[in-house]
Amino acid sequence: MHLVMIGGSDAGISAALRARELDPAADVTVVLEDAYPNFSICGIPYYVSGEVTRWRNLAHRTFADLEAAGMRLRTDTTARRIDVPGRKLLVTTADGGEELLGYDKLVVGTGAVPVRPPITGLSGPDALGPAGGVHLLHSMGDTFAVMHTLEQAGPASAVIVGAGYIGLEMADALTIRGLRVTQMEQLPEVLPTVDSQLGALVHAELASHGVEVLTGTTVRAISKASPGGSGRLQVIATAADGTAVTRTADMVLVVVGVRPETTLAAEAGATLGVKGAIAVDPGMHTNLPDVFAAGDCVITHHRLLGQTYLPLGTTAHKQGRVAGENALGGNRQFAGSLGTQVVKIFDQAAARTGLRDHEAAAAGFNPVTTETAADDHKAYYPGSHRITIRVTGDRTTGRLLGMQLFGHKNAEIAKRADIAATAVYHGMTVDAVSDLDLSYTPPLGSPWDAVQMAAQAWTRATRPR
Ligand SMILES: Cc1cc2nc3c(=O)[nH]c(=O)nc-3n(C[C@H](O)[C@H](O)[C@H](O)COP(=O)(O)OP(=O)(O)OC[C@H]3O[C@@H](n4cnc5c(N)ncnc54)[C@H](O)[C@@H]3O)c2cc1C
Repeated sequence: MHLVMIGGSDAGISAALRARELDPAADVTVVLEDAYPNFSICGIPYYVSGEVTRWRNLAHRTFADLEAAGMRLRTDTTARRIDVPGRKLLVTTADGGEELLGYDKLVVGTGAVPVRPPITGLSGPDALGPAGGVHLLHSMGDTFAVMHTLEQAGPASAVIVGAGYIGLEMADALTIRGLRVTQMEQLPEVLPTVDSQLGALVHAELASHGVEVLTGTTVRAISKASPGGSGRLQVIATAADGTAVTRTADMVLVVVGVRPETTLAAEAGATLGVKGAIAVDPGMHTNLPDVFAAGDCVITHHRLLGQTYLPLGTTAHKQGRVAGENALGGNRQFAGSLGTQVVKIFDQAAARTGLRDHEAAAAGFNPVTTETAADDHKAYYPGSHRITIRVTGDRTTGRLLGMQLFGHKNAEIAKRADIAATAVYHGMTVDAVSDLDLSYTPPLGSPWDAVQMAAQAWTRATRPR
């Protein structure tokens, strides 16, 4: 059995590892277009900040580890065409030659590419790119280009276009490096994946670390600034009230989201679904015989929403594992995402799982959302922090639908979101969260954990006795 995986990141490598784990005799080849298999691109901001000192440390596993696991790695090799009936993959090799690779089963893990928004100066023949200090950020190659600008041009200032989680992590990273950062976001608040009440707390954290945050601000053009000014690039934007906003900076980072990379699969006849991602069933089968797909290139099965598109590393790992198992003839199903995610912004963290109020309403639930503040551990023990928690539950059934948290990075925000994720996964009611037997000692918690206090507040508000 010869399995070929296209893509050397979370999905492709997870598929390859799982196949080798289940069948040490399986012949597994991973084809990737760059030379960085199994790198943690989630760690890029921490390499840029300098907290991770060497880029090689971002590897989940080294090249040698992967080869020792029994897979053949074809780096600098681009998949060009899938011959589905012939079960062959046409690739361009590192030396520019072409080669046909036969396969029994194929896993497409081509991932996502950064969205290039319609900003003058970002596309077209005269577009500014990394050499001019204008960057997109997704791959290790993009990271090296950013580092080249930082180390060679010595920028004093940066404009970051976009205030999603990657934009926020990069604001943190570039500030740590000593740059003056302006963050421009066209939506009314930063981190639009959480409610604006928590976004406002993130906003305040950015501002308290010197980041100039301009929300409701749509970037229109990036151009070279006139010589002698305070930066080598000029960014022109429009504020929510229609007025023009102009900033100069030495570098510009555009991080406004990703879109699935589906060209190869689509040209082979794969059906596309939500947001143009490859349609797969929960077993990661595409509509093409012997072709599976996983990761940021596919639609996401969500436990509460059905089909959506929610590209995350956690999901790509799980889907890749399912694809690898099923490519060997298994019958595993991806259990579904809840969109659980967390981001650190300077000294604070924001996390969410499940649905927010408007998402739940759109999905046919009868949602109510309440907000509570509770201490992460007993306030009499030094170093306690308040956590703001928003609980969304269904008024009709009492079911927990989602939770959002904001608080100090040492206040176990992520793990508390994971308690909620576990509860939502298992369809628990908000009230039942109070019954969970959670751990307690004063330096680390409270007899009622903060998550339970928030659950009780929701129940009081919705089920008054
Ligand atoms: C800066 C940053 C921070 C992030 N932080 C987090 C986080 O904290 N938590 C989280 O859950 N997620 C995070 N993510 C998202 C996460 O990294 C992605 O969801 C995950 O990497 C997706 O994995 P993937 O294998 O599907 O695709 P990708 O990582 O996009 O990899 C696609 C692979 O396919 C290869 N490829 C594409 N086309 C071809 C072709 N034609 N031929 C050969 N090879 C090809 C590429 O070279 C690459 O190896 C972050 C992403 C970034 C950029």
